Amino acid sequence: MIGKMSHKLFNNILTIRSMTSICKSSRSAMTLALSNAYINGKWVPAEDGSTFPVKNPANGKLISEVADMTANETEAAVNHAAKAFKQWKDYTAFDRSKLLKKWYTIMTNNQEELAQILTAENGKTITEARGEIMYGTSFVEWFAEEAKRVYGDVLPSGFKSKRQLHLKQPVGVCGIITPWNFPNAMILRKVGAALAAGCTVVVKPAEDTPLSALATCHYAEQAGIPAGVLNVVTCSHKHAAEVGKVLCGNPKVSKISFTGSTETGKILMKQSVDTMKRVSMELGGNAAFIVFNSADVNAAVAGAVSSKFRGSGQTCISANRLLVQDQVYDEFCEKLTKAVEKFVVGDGLEDGTTHGPLINEKAVDKVDKHVKDAVEKGGKVLIGGERLAKGPAFYSPTVIRDINQEMAVCREETFGPLAPVIKFKEEKEALLIANSTRMGLAGYFYSQDIQQIWRVAEDLEVGMVGINESVLSAMNIAFGGIKESGLGREGSKYGIDEYLNIKYACFGGLH
Ligand code: ADP
Repeated sequence: MIGKMSHKLFNNILTIRSMTSICKSSRSAMTLALSNAYINGKWVPAEDGSTFPVKNPANGKLISEVADMTANETEAAVNHAAKAFKQWKDYTAFDRSKLLKKWYTIMTNNQEELAQILTAENGKTITEARGEIMYGTSFVEWFAEEAKRVYGDVLPSGFKSKRQLHLKQPVGVCGIITPWNFPNAMILRKVGAALAAGCTVVVKPAEDTPLSALATCHYAEQAGIPAGVLNVVTCSHKHAAEVGKVLCGNPKVSKISFTGSTETGKILMKQSVDTMKRVSMELGGNAAFIVFNSADVNAAVAGAVSSKFRGSGQTCISANRLLVQDQVYDEFCEKLTKAVEKFVVGDGLEDGTTHGPLINEKAVDKVDKHVKDAVEKGGKVLIGGERLAKGPAFYSPTVIRDINQEMAVCREETFGPLAPVIKFKEEKEALLIANSTRMGLAGYFYSQDIQQIWRVAEDLEVGMVGINESVLSAMNIAFGGIKESGLGREGSKYGIDEYLNIKYACFGGLH
């Protein structure tokens, strides 16, 4: 398999490797991992040898050529996962837990290497990438613990002759489709829960960022996760739909868990109907970030910086619309602009960079479109508002004031470094604007008025709300949305239930 790899590719992978000073795996093992899919415990190329390029968004350089799988290889992966499920579900929860803990420990010991790979393919700063590895792996540790707490119920029976129980059992093979914005964490948050529950998985990572997924398999192999339990099918954008169709349509797959756009989520749900699959969908957001007159404006500005500009604005819970009450509007705009002035945009691997590139040029085009539309309709650019000469994936962090509801930025998720600031007068008006979307993932507000805090927290139509806080996610909380932002919850004590069926067992004829 490795023979297929070109010399150039080998050198590129060595470039990633030389960026890491504390690399612990052997060169050939990781090189193999970063170019092939991982099916049934083997590193395999596409049947016809096809590959697709993975490029560094900071400089456009090729990092790796990765196996471009199709429906055939996906069917094979599902078959292997189905076979492996028969054994994996019979491991005791304690044994699964031990293996997951081992996987967690190995990944944690190799945090730097995983972070370097992540920055190279996604562009986020190395500091953010390190944070993502800690965050992503924390789900594996969390669910290693949760595996041992999958309690059923013994019910008080209404009949003397019967005893009634609820048993919790793994759903089976799970198809997992993930995005590029958290190439490590979106996989581990799902896979950790699925494996802990006793399910096996076939993962399709995003075409822009398959290397982080493959690197986690490399360590799963070292941890001794049995062959067929964790499979990763890599493919280009061209083949995503056919791979998705197999995962959604194959009756051997019992569950689909997806994180990505609402548009794709709807396609996958429709495709899952015929086989009546369980589905979890973590979809787009359009988060409102509200600053009331009573707020601590400095805290609100710091919150806006981290919520709006983390990952250069490419997180699904990023603030999309900043709503600021009239009395603090000018102060907030001025302070936010000053904070953004301090950003250092560049290659995420370079010292001092605070904000990396976007994932690709298409993402930049969307930000630019939103900026131009806002300016045309009366928005005033306070800072940024242009593409950067550093490369086609770079856009300047932007703040625009005098935003109104007619602008595209209020209706669509920008997914980029654009902070549009809307002025409002009344709390009711802010809630009306905040809830005037079909999305309902996260929302944030800053207020020191306790009555208002309860009212607004209850009235925002979202799955998660930050109150004087902009960093929400962690392994112990229930992450997920309402409305068209999705179904199901990830992380927390509830996350494992998404991968379990409840079986009711009734013992009769008792005296
Ligand atoms: P984004 O626009 O942020 O890339 P997508 O929803 O298109 O979001 O992509 C998220 C994931 O869904 C990626 O892994 C992508 O390859 C995959 N994907 C996109 N379209 C389909 C599809 N029709 N079937 C299956 N997977 C898809």
